[in-house]
Amino acid sequence: MRVGVLALQGDFREHLLAIESLGVQASAVKNPVELEAVDGLIIPGGESTTISKLIEIFGMLSPLRKFAATKPVLGTCAGLILLSNKVSGALADQQLIGGLPITTERNSYGGQLQSFEGQVDFVDGVSENVAFIRAPRILEHPEVEVVAKFQDEVVAVRHGTLMGASFHPELTGATHLHKLFISSFN
Ligand code: GLN
Repeated sequence: MRVGVLALQGDFREHLLAIESLGVQASAVKNPVELEAVDGLIIPGGESTTISKLIEIFGMLSPLRKFAATKPVLGTCAGLILLSNKVSGALADQQLIGGLPITTERNSYGGQLQSFEGQVDFVDGVSENVAFIRAPRILEHPEVEVVAKFQDEVVAVRHGTLMGASFHPELTGATHLHKLFISSFN
């Protein structure tokens, strides 16, 4: 099993290290050929508008949409935005990968200065300290499975083979989300 991490922008290195720390092979994905070689993909946090542009420039939009239609994909922060079917605050021409039937609001927990660390509670009973950085809020999530909450708010979801989280687990050494993601592989 090999997990890819989309490596166009954002903190992909930390995700590669998190996956490897769990004893699973990980590789950076920058083009359609590298995408073909992985069994699942993580889309990291960063800046979703920049990642969207790079996805188009690198000819990755259609390959990523096809991949996400059938294979496991985890999006964190900017990655969650890119996997959302609807985004409040997206640029008018911003292309999304989509697949998660949720509405997400960009920068909803505040800007860079309001970034914070907090404890999220997974529905399976595990709690971990994670980072919220210019984090998106999951506004509407009627059809998806709840994976984790922060206080009373849903911050991680699953729908079929897709998972998304508002936060960065990889910056605080939290690996539970990665474990859940990997355990969903067939
Ligand atoms: N607010 C950023 C965006 O809209 C996401 C921030 C992050 O990934 N830490 O892309």
